[in-house]
Amino acid sequence: VTPRTEHTGKDPRAVLKEVFGYDDFRGDQADIVARVIAGGDAVVLMPTGGGKSITYQVPALVRPGTGLVISPLIALMHDQVDALIANGVRAAYLNSTQSPTERAGVEQAFLAGELDLLYVAPERLSGAATTQLLQRGRLSVIAIDEAHCVSQWGHDFRPDYLALGDLAERFPDVPRMALTATATRATHQELTERLRLPAARHFVASFDRPNIQYRIVPKVDPRRQLLDFVRAQPAASAGIVYALSRKSVEQTAEYLRTQGVDALPYHAGLDAAIRARNQGRFLREDGVVMVATIAFGMGIDKPDVRFVAHIDLPKSVEGYYQETGRAGRDGEPAVAWMAYGLGDVVQQRRLIDQSPGDRAYKMRLGQHLDAMLALCETVSCRRQNLLNYFGQESGPCGNCDTCLDTPDTWDGLVPAQKLLSTIVRLQRERGQAFGAGHLIDILRGASTDRIRQQGHDKVATYGLGADLSDQDWRSVIRQLLARGVIVAQGEYGVLAVGEEGAAVLRGEAAVPLRRDVLGRGGATRAKAS
Ligand code: ADP
Ligand code: ZN
Repeated sequence: VTPRTEHTGKDPRAVLKEVFGYDDFRGDQADIVARVIAGGDAVVLMPTGGGKSITYQVPALVRPGTGLVISPLIALMHDQVDALIANGVRAAYLNSTQSPTERAGVEQAFLAGELDLLYVAPERLSGAATTQLLQRGRLSVIAIDEAHCVSQWGHDFRPDYLALGDLAERFPDVPRMALTATATRATHQELTERLRLPAARHFVASFDRPNIQYRIVPKVDPRRQLLDFVRAQPAASAGIVYALSRKSVEQTAEYLRTQGVDALPYHAGLDAAIRARNQGRFLREDGVVMVATIAFGMGIDKPDVRFVAHIDLPKSVEGYYQETGRAGRDGEPAVAWMAYGLGDVVQQRRLIDQSPGDRAYKMRLGQHLDAMLALCETVSCRRQNLLNYFGQESGPCGNCDTCLDTPDTWDGLVPAQKLLSTIVRLQRERGQAFGAGHLIDILRGASTDRIRQQGHDKVATYGLGADLSDQDWRSVIRQLLARGVIVAQGEYGVLAVGEEGAAVLRGEAAVPLRRDVLGRGGATRAKAS
């Protein structure tokens, strides 16, 4: 049995310098490395770009045996192994992309003790063959990357991770590490339990990215707003624009190009050669704006991305944090900008309704969306809201749109009641339900064909909301949706009274709403005071 404290006598800092070329450890890295070299387990929560890899790579080089790295991202695995080999580290991977001969070669090298690091995909560890192989060789450390994937409540659950808890019994003498860049308090606790790390030391880095300015604006004309935002950035800024669909990616990239922005599309449906070419240009050249689905970004190491823009709403705060976190990894000022509107809420609810999966699964997706909406609609500091979501306390940051320009709020109780009462009447009296557009027409007393055909000018609330513009009503509805006062249902996003709705109807809940300021482009707002 390998004593947990054995090591080769190499100095971790010397390894850091000689192999990786860095003069010193950063943040918690030195403590984590020392803990693991001494044979202890560790749970590491560190944001993307924080430098997690070093924390298992250095112990793997200091302790005798091979460091086992479990990673779900095959592309990332290839990149890491290539980079390690370039630094003279004996690294290899085992995954489904290899031929049997290639695999056999790696297995032999491992058994002969000729590997410093071995990367495997989690699914390989659920089979007996790989486990037996690992037991016949010698492991120095086991690192479970993307450890939040074990959480069934998280946004990235992977069933293969559940079996990784067994490593505790299979390799009792090997120090184990769980690493992740996204964990709420609950996920943190869950991964510690499921991966059986009761004696681990916990290293929780701050998730704050102070150089990133967060800005979320109401969506009016997203393309135009995006263009204004991009043009307002310093010349030759590299940026990423995230859109939900492939079609939207292509159209947005095309639009920006016609407006003189050096924009390129990137999504999984593009030819591999085009993807590689676009990615290469983004990495090498200045001022390229990549318009992409979330397929783009994992493992892209470009420190000087100056902005990340979202023209569609991310599905979760974890996703938003991960995507915006690709901005400003060099520590220089960067902006995370998003345009968000009523259509996003309706669309995301519809996607959840239509997603395959049981009720509990859909509820979970709904909770993720609710947290994202709360961030969008907050009238207090965005960063504070974001950090609290990850269980970290902070004060107002002074570097987000709500801090820089405190939003005005107004009392939305009466309009909320008018809307709810319209929904309730149509439902009770006629068994009907409608989407936002038609409800606004009723409230504003519009005289459309549909209103006349349906006789909706006879509804008691017809015209009662004429004091608000169409845009104001959209803002009200968006915010009420975000708070669960109303809910959007079905394919057409028809509105119904939500859980919080009854109290509002009775006048027992306050409804402070944020006053949207729709400055041109929404990219900048004059101080309203
Ligand atoms: P993570 O996996 O946490 O996202 P990485 O391990 O990929 O982060 O590291 C992010 C970047 O920081 C990489 O470019 C890496 O080379 C660099 N880095 C990590 N540790 C150090 C260090 N001690 N000194 C300087 N650069 C470092
Ligand atoms: Zn702030």
